[in-house]
Amino acid sequence: MQKYSFGIGDRFGCQGSAQLAAFIEAKKLGIEITPVWNKSNREHTTIHTEPSDVRKEADKAVADANWNGAYFVDADHINLSCVDKFINSSDFFTLDVADYIGEESNSADVTAFVKKYKKFAGELSIPGINEKFHVSEPDLQITAEKYLNAIKEAGKIYRYILEGRCPQRPLTPSATNSKIQIEIPQPPLKKGDSIHQSNNPIIHHSNLIIEVSMDETEKPQTPLELLFILAMIADEKIPAQTIAPKFSGRFNKGVEYVGDVAQFAKEFEDDLAVIQFAIKNFGLNENLKLSVHSGSDKFAIYPAINKAIKKYNTGVHVKTAGTTWLEELIGLAESGGEALDIAKEIYRKAFDRYDELAAPYATVIDIDNEELPKPDVVDSWDSTKYVDSLRHDRTNVNYNQSFRQLLHVGYKIAAELGDKYINALKENREIVAKNVTENILERHIKIIFANHEEH
Ligand SMILES: [Zn+2]
Repeated sequence: MQKYSFGIGDRFGCQGSAQLAAFIEAKKLGIEITPVWNKSNREHTTIHTEPSDVRKEADKAVADANWNGAYFVDADHINLSCVDKFINSSDFFTLDVADYIGEESNSADVTAFVKKYKKFAGELSIPGINEKFHVSEPDLQITAEKYLNAIKEAGKIYRYILEGRCPQRPLTPSATNSKIQIEIPQPPLKKGDSIHQSNNPIIHHSNLIIEVSMDETEKPQTPLELLFILAMIADEKIPAQTIAPKFSGRFNKGVEYVGDVAQFAKEFEDDLAVIQFAIKNFGLNENLKLSVHSGSDKFAIYPAINKAIKKYNTGVHVKTAGTTWLEELIGLAESGGEALDIAKEIYRKAFDRYDELAAPYATVIDIDNEELPKPDVVDSWDSTKYVDSLRHDRTNVNYNQSFRQLLHVGYKIAAELGDKYINALKENREIVAKNVTENILERHIKIIFANHEEH
């Protein structure tokens, strides 16, 4: 996959062109980023959309703008229970196996893993990491017991996707791994089939991106755990091009990073070193890169990410989703009149249905109820006050991150408004688009990916 990519979500499917405009502007500035439209099963279910809607939106935005760069449609956080409906409209699959971490792994598999990788036991140095790791056989055993089952599950999902791909989207071998050219036919697999093991090399594809994600867990994975997770991924012949670990700190939806930035920076750099080591030792894709989930608005760690990817001359995928919807709300509020009234109505309903809306996102939001204004108060606000409270500008005294987070998870209310909401977006197309583009370009792409000169 291309070096730099950025995941964009569009809850209501109206902002594809406005989102792409940010990538077009970036390209003019010499920053080449591949757009990836992502939408999870949870979002589709809440809004009643289909994966094919995202494909149509992306294709149309690209055609309308004559975008000739690569782009992808990401089946975000899928597993065997929901992958079917994504197979023919996606070319990027985020295999979410977080729920399988810690589930009992087959003991023979664990023993085989320890036997194969005990060559790494003892003192292990990884180029780029100053301190040495001390790996014992029991460490290997514990890591295998914890993660092997999850990675085996990722293998099952990957092979199921390969099997179900429609012939209209044939796979092409990746040009970056010239040693591996041929597609090896696999026997048909059904859901839950046992693992097909072979001594064949990993088959890399240039038009099918596989990401393995384990970010939705309580505890972060250490760089050393990541190393052995990558070994398991290689053993499963998963041609992963991106890997999304859980990093230290809190990655709440749509708001600032909470945690120790220096610790994050060290961990991120160590992970990059581990990935380089794993590519060389396990035959993984040469372009394998880290994927940062819930990556929007993490302004505190962008300098560290930028510095690390430039230092290692490596790529990164940063995934964002719901913040385009907040830019829609900002645009409507900025317009005033009926559009502002709709933004207020959405807040009132979200406030009244707090428990229902917040529950699915409980682990990734931190709303301080004391900070939430009463709907009657919000009704008295003018455009500026609403916009200032919602827009993520920490220098603005009116910015309220609890207000922002509640609205972030409140997209279900807008979905229920149906045509009323969609028509408001259409009537205020320009002002909404301006906010959508600016947010992606100015607050994200430029800061994460551009070459920033050292002073
Ligand atoms: Zn995620």
